[in-house]
Amino acid sequence: MSEQEYLSRDALRALQSERLVRLVARLYQHVPFYRERMHAAGVSPADIRWIEDLHKLPFTTKDDMRQVYPLGLLAVPLTEIEEIHASSGTTGKPVIDAYTRNDLDIWGEVMGRTLEMGGATSADIIQNAYGYGLFTGGLGVHYGAHNIHATVIPISGGNTKRQLAILQDFGSTVLTCTPSYSLYLAEAAREEGLDPASFKLKYGYFGAEPWSEAMRAEIEKNFGIKAYDIYGLTEIIGPGVASECVEQAGMHINEDHFYPEIINPETGEVLPDGEKGELVITTITKTGTPILRYRTRDITFLIRDKCACGRTTVRMHRLFGRTDDMLIIRGVNVFPSQIEEVLLRFEKIEPHYQLIVDRKDHLDNLEVQIEMTQDLFSDEVRNLEQIERKIEGEIASALGIHARVRLVEPKTIPRSEGKAVRIIDKRKI
Ligand code: ADP
Ligand code: ZN
Repeated sequence: MSEQEYLSRDALRALQSERLVRLVARLYQHVPFYRERMHAAGVSPADIRWIEDLHKLPFTTKDDMRQVYPLGLLAVPLTEIEEIHASSGTTGKPVIDAYTRNDLDIWGEVMGRTLEMGGATSADIIQNAYGYGLFTGGLGVHYGAHNIHATVIPISGGNTKRQLAILQDFGSTVLTCTPSYSLYLAEAAREEGLDPASFKLKYGYFGAEPWSEAMRAEIEKNFGIKAYDIYGLTEIIGPGVASECVEQAGMHINEDHFYPEIINPETGEVLPDGEKGELVITTITKTGTPILRYRTRDITFLIRDKCACGRTTVRMHRLFGRTDDMLIIRGVNVFPSQIEEVLLRFEKIEPHYQLIVDRKDHLDNLEVQIEMTQDLFSDEVRNLEQIERKIEGEIASALGIHARVRLVEPKTIPRSEGKAVRIIDKRKI
């Protein structure tokens, strides 16, 4: 726990302002990229005195980061860098985060807060099934576990049989992995004749990919645990940007380090609290590769009401999706998480699905493939068709689009040890 999470709004604003002023001075002095951007925007460090002046500064985008790949945003000599991480780079060149000692300490601190928010203490045994390596998930949780002096089991992702053995042998109390992998673990446990609810797990922190309230309910039921949402991205620090407390009512943003804004993704205009838009983050304390007004492409809104847990930090709603994950089906904007929310209302289907988008005669077609339970699989074809039509009806009434729903045999949708692949867009091929 840190007192920074409980500051009065005035004290927090003063802290954020002071940190922003120092950040801008550093960037202007040491990073040519930012100096040029500020010149182009007609703004100088002297114009930035309060956190409210932030809107005068230019945005940074993922494309900018790719253009300066690998280390064009470095704000300190390379000798001060102690660790480098990179995003998976599935949508282009990877983006890099280079950490100084200061940055690694911040990472440990915010991830420590994250784990504590859900109730973890030094007495907990954290089975960390996020991937270790260049991906930030594994080491982010690892440093957080050290920060709160918990026991961390650095098993990394995959190796499912071993995960199950360790859950049993060591009595792990906390599970950290992607939400989709946690359900895969539960399924694998059952196949071995184990009840996932019989493990000693008390809670889990799940993130790195989109998921829904319905999926949370599945995970909580399967393991008999509390499942918390945790958010982060490589460009900012990795996991630890924001996470849920026991209230499970939005993720507290560690805004003494990561200052959030919400903008209209089309116009760049800053939106008032409560309005949904693209999350923009400024890292006000990082020193290695600090980022000014980074456009995350993630869609959410900010919640300022007082949280029952007592923390005063602003919260962000569970993500609705990312601007680049949004499907436009015949003019209607659809996020995979909205479809997931509908699918998981049905019994007899599994939380394993894929969305396949295709274009025929200039029209977009969406097919939703979802696994049925073994039970349903042995049912009559007529029944299956009825259920398919029913799900189609629910999708149509919830989202206003027609999707073709196809129930597929159990275990035919590929499982992932990291981030699940939910969308197959054949329109790009
Ligand atoms: P990449 O996926 O581009 O390789 P990252 O591993 O840094 O890079 O992924 C960060 C992205 O993952 C975020 O911008 C967001 O879209 C997604 N993400 C992270 N945490 C969550 C979460 N709790 N809910 C939904 N999406 C998340
Ligand atoms: Zn709270």
